[in-house]
Amino acid sequence: MTLFPEHIAACPDCDLMQRIPALSRGETARCLRCGRTMAAGKTDSLNRTFALAVAAAIVLVIANVTPLMGLSAVGRHASTTIFGGVLKMWQEGQGITAALVAFCTVAAPTVYILFMLTILAAVRRDPAPSWAGALLRISDASRSWAMVEVMMLGILVALVKIADVATVVPGVGMFAVFALIVLFAAMTVSFDPREVWSRIRWVDRAAQPAGARRQDGFPEDRAASADGMTAAKLGLVSCGACGLLAKPADLASPGYCPRCGRALALRRRHTIQRTWALLIAAAICYIPANLLPVMNTTMPAYAANDTIMNGVILLYASGSWPLALIVLVASVIIPLAKIVTMAYLLAAIQLRRPESRRERIRIYRFVEIIGRWSMLDVFVVTFVVALVQLQPIMSVEPGAGVVFFAAVVVLTMFAAEQFDPRLIWDSPDDEESDHD
Ligand SMILES: [Zn+2]
Ligand SMILES: [Zn+2]
Repeated sequence: MTLFPEHIAACPDCDLMQRIPALSRGETARCLRCGRTMAAGKTDSLNRTFALAVAAAIVLVIANVTPLMGLSAVGRHASTTIFGGVLKMWQEGQGITAALVAFCTVAAPTVYILFMLTILAAVRRDPAPSWAGALLRISDASRSWAMVEVMMLGILVALVKIADVATVVPGVGMFAVFALIVLFAAMTVSFDPREVWSRIRWVDRAAQPAGARRQDGFPEDRAASADGMTAAKLGLVSCGACGLLAKPADLASPGYCPRCGRALALRRRHTIQRTWALLIAAAICYIPANLLPVMNTTMPAYAANDTIMNGVILLYASGSWPLALIVLVASVIIPLAKIVTMAYLLAAIQLRRPESRRERIRIYRFVEIIGRWSMLDVFVVTFVVALVQLQPIMSVEPGAGVVFFAAVVVLTMFAAEQFDPRLIWDSPDDEESDHD
């Protein structure tokens, strides 16, 4: 297996080979063809991210042990923590939804912060232990499932909904959640995974180049002749986890990445079939998610089973039309748009359409980013149910629609993760049409 130095890489989104120049602070290297960020010059990345992760760990504890909000009505007081919401959903028989909410609001952020702290402590040694690479893969995955910002919006919507029937007071936990959003964003900005990968001891130690060879394993003239070619056309595979570029002896069974140990593959296996399967499942769940009630309210002489759409109308009627619009977009429009656009992307690949590839890759990135926001109503239901328990005067229970709703979000997120964007660029028609 021939290996290539750090600055020769294939774009993860379109597979185009390129040389990444030395970057100074604040500079970003983007893919020439699809615009994907390949590398960014960051100052003191590891120390800064470590400091931010320490702060995030403290804030995460505060966010989890203090009340998010309190309620007082008819002489009673109640308050809830994040875990209180999870527990209430569990007691109401919504086990799957409770587990998902716990995963997205407690488990995923905790794993992300703990693993980042461990990785950043481990890379102080040079070379860093190779398990830091495995942790980095897991922390990356948990980052995309840590939905603190969606939870924050869910708390706000819940506050407005409850404000109609009782006095609500924001708690310390809510401010901690807000601080956590800021810290997570700062960690993402300051962290440079390339620096971690460059310090790690390779899984296959024999294959690891000595320090000097990191920059000159690949003659410049060969790199120059590779411009405008995709890695696949040159018989090269780039690792899906660490980005290492390798030329395996046998392209049909490329083996494992010598740096991080992950199985190499030219393209994600069965990506089209799997993405279709996930999308169809999501489309099926979308129907009961919208038809079944998500929240059942019981008051003396009044009982209501609210679907998502009813909830939107109620919010609008109570005068908070911006929130009504947010819930409508997040809960009804985003999941549908995501299913339709992913289906379009797949169909365009299968019909071998060469046109508007750059637009398609933008659409893909967009739906990948916005998809998580459709969890909004699941969080709203969780916190409203946790707080409004004033039996026998008033109580709220989760409806059967919630679990289908959560299923749509999870399935479409899996579909976007499963999809291999490089297929958009793999059509037989050549690159000429892309260079305008
Ligand atoms: Zn690209
Ligand atoms: Zn790798």
